[in-house]
Amino acid sequence: MKNKASDPATHSQNGKLPKTKPMNAPLQSSQLMKLFEDELKDIYWAEKALTKAIPKMIKNASSPELMHALTIHLTETEKQVARVEDVFASIDKKAVAKKCEAMEGLIKEAGEIMASCETGAMRDAGIIAAGQKVEHYEIASYGTLCQFAETLGLSKAVKLLTATLEEEKAADEQLSKVAITAVNIEAAATEE
Ligand code: FE
Ligand code: ZN
Ligand code: FE
Ligand code: FE
Repeated sequence: MKNKASDPATHSQNGKLPKTKPMNAPLQSSQLMKLFEDELKDIYWAEKALTKAIPKMIKNASSPELMHALTIHLTETEKQVARVEDVFASIDKKAVAKKCEAMEGLIKEAGEIMASCETGAMRDAGIIAAGQKVEHYEIASYGTLCQFAETLGLSKAVKLLTATLEEEKAADEQLSKVAITAVNIEAAATEE
C-alpha cells in the first residue's frame, strides 16, 4: 500500500493536483552584480588568507618537489591578491574582503592534518591532500566568477579572472604530479 503522506499527489486540497510552482522571475543583472561582488569579496579574503597559510605548508613539507610547487604557487597567490584588486577596480569598486568560512575551514583542516602526520612522506601526502582541496575550492570560485563576469559583459574582469583560474588549475595538476612522482609511492614504501 502506498504511503499517502509521501505521495505528492495526495497533498492537494479538494482532490485537485497541486499547482506547479510558478516560474521564477529571471535573475536581474543588478542581482547578479551583487552576487558577483559578494563572491569577489569572498575570494579576496581567501587569497589573502592563503598568502599566510601556504608558507606554513612549505615549512612542514619535506619533499623538495613539493616545497618547490608550493613556493611557486605562493608567488602566484600574492599576484592573485593584486589581480582581485584589479577586478574590483575594473568595476569601480573598492577592494573589500569578506571572511570566507569555507577557506578558513580548509586552512584549519590543513593545520590539523599537518599536526597529526609524521614529518616526511606522510605529512607531505597530507599537505598535498589539503592543498588540492584548496585549489578545487578556488577553481569552483573562479569558474563561477568568470561565468558571472561573462554574463554581465565585464570583459576586463573576465580576462583577469580567467588568468587566475588557469593558474589554480595548473597548481592542482602540479600537486597531483608531485603526489604521483615524488611523495605517495614513498609513503606506501615506508609502511612495510
Ligand atoms: Fe589562489
Ligand atoms: Zn571562499
Ligand atoms: Fe566562501
Ligand atoms: Fe591556488
